[in-house]
Amino acid sequence: MRLFPDALDLYGDSGNTQVLERRLAWRGIPARVSDVLLDSDLDSLDVQAPCIVLIGGGSDRGQIASTHALHRLEGKLRSLIDRGGVVFAVCGGFQLLGRSCVVAGERVEGLGIIPMDTVASPDGSRIIGHTAEVLGSDGTGLKVAGFENHAGRTWLDEGARPLGLTRQGRGNNGEDGTEGYWGGHVVGTYLHGPILAKNPALVDALLAMALGDDWDGVGEPDLAVLGGPLDDLLEDVAHIHAVNLATQAAK
Ligand code: GLN
Repeated sequence: MRLFPDALDLYGDSGNTQVLERRLAWRGIPARVSDVLLDSDLDSLDVQAPCIVLIGGGSDRGQIASTHALHRLEGKLRSLIDRGGVVFAVCGGFQLLGRSCVVAGERVEGLGIIPMDTVASPDGSRIIGHTAEVLGSDGTGLKVAGFENHAGRTWLDEGARPLGLTRQGRGNNGEDGTEGYWGGHVVGTYLHGPILAKNPALVDALLAMALGDDWDGVGEPDLAVLGGPLDDLLEDVAHIHAVNLATQAAK
């Protein structure tokens, strides 16, 4: 389910749903992508698990336009997560899941689903560039690569787990080496791309979680719930290319 692609959809973020849908279709698992728009009837929205909710990045304008509607869905999102659903948010959408963020100079209250705050860039600069990271604070696990472009600096609470640790690129705040957030079935990242097209292993991790694997982001997810791995020759090439872009940019 895509939340507010009419306001939150930078750098092809809503294409992430196509990747999820394709990888399920290749495995013979039926799926449906539904769009929730700003003028959709939010009160009668029925969000049933299994479900992956995708929230994309947005300009300041897009973030402001969608904040009220996102708050109206907070209860449904929390209850979906409790029932095993997955929420995957990118950049502006990721910021809005925290307690607070600064948009166009104004403090905006977020949903508080992720224990973090996003503050304004101290000097007005943006963090822009190709990023590669390793998932899991022990440095093992999956690699993720994509492209970040944000002004906000995000600080996770102590003990909150990032999606990954940046090897190349600047991540949540350019200082502490963290990128994104991974807490149970809630995953956030600054990486666009669309990120899932470049990171088939992350897609399968999200799908496996949504379909019942309690994988927590360390080591490998159990792909048995998906009927096993796919032949990812092309997808792996896209991933390696994204990692190489980040590595070259860091030189
Ligand atoms: N407006 C936010 C920022 O710049 C989010 C941008 C985005 O989603 N790419 O921090």
